[in-house]
Amino acid sequence: MARQRRPDDIRQGALFTGSRPRRPVVRPGRRAGTRRTPTPIRTPGKKIWLSATGIETHRRCPRCFWLQYNLRIYQPEGIVSRLANRFDGVIKRYFDLYRGTNELPPLVAGQVVGRLESPFQELYFATLNQRYGFKGKLDECLVRPDGRYTPVDHKTASSDPNTREIIPAYQFQLDSYAWLLGQNEKPTSGLGHLIYFYPAESQHLHQGFPMEVTIKTLTTKPTSVRPILEQAISLLEGPLPAPADDCPFCLYVEQVKRF
Ligand code: SF4
Repeated sequence: MARQRRPDDIRQGALFTGSRPRRPVVRPGRRAGTRRTPTPIRTPGKKIWLSATGIETHRRCPRCFWLQYNLRIYQPEGIVSRLANRFDGVIKRYFDLYRGTNELPPLVAGQVVGRLESPFQELYFATLNQRYGFKGKLDECLVRPDGRYTPVDHKTASSDPNTREIIPAYQFQLDSYAWLLGQNEKPTSGLGHLIYFYPAESQHLHQGFPMEVTIKTLTTKPTSVRPILEQAISLLEGPLPAPADDCPFCLYVEQVKRF
């Protein structure tokens, strides 16, 4: 579960859902190119590996993305939940019970096509140029009867995902996995699955805590991935971008610096 963002969900949610009151943003001299761009830290001969999580940071705030990849400066993590990570491990071990068999885990049988890849390759890499590459870590992969691969990502959710739209980060995640599979000579089915696990209501919690499972199947667009990665590389090679206007952290730093 890249869950991605799993542990970060709480932190990111607090940052980007507008849960904090907005204040007028005054950042004299903070637009791109108006300040000296620091020299990026580079290790000669070592590639910079972009990831779906990094690209999501790029979408949210190009400046944060630039600082992370060029200077290894990250936002402070704060208090995060490790519950989703724990879920990931439990679900993976459950799926592993069916790996190497012709059966699918009963939780998903009849809802997806194929068998679990066996042995399972979790990590994929693709070189973009001499300095950059892209890497991805799949939660699961199905192999269809025609030999085509379908990437799968597990998501721990708080409620039924049918009540909301698929967020762009999840679409990109599956697109990028499909692209990586293709780059590694594994033909893809054109589909990807998000398997959501979320708590269900029950009057019998003492008999076990029930979880609902919902599968969302998306059409993957691997051809959309390379242009997005090229855009991210151009940004990293350019000047330090301006901060996002709706992020409270840089605004906070800007304001406290005056005292
Ligand atoms: S505005 Fe500042 S703290 Fe907020 S995401 Fe961008 S660089 Fe990071």
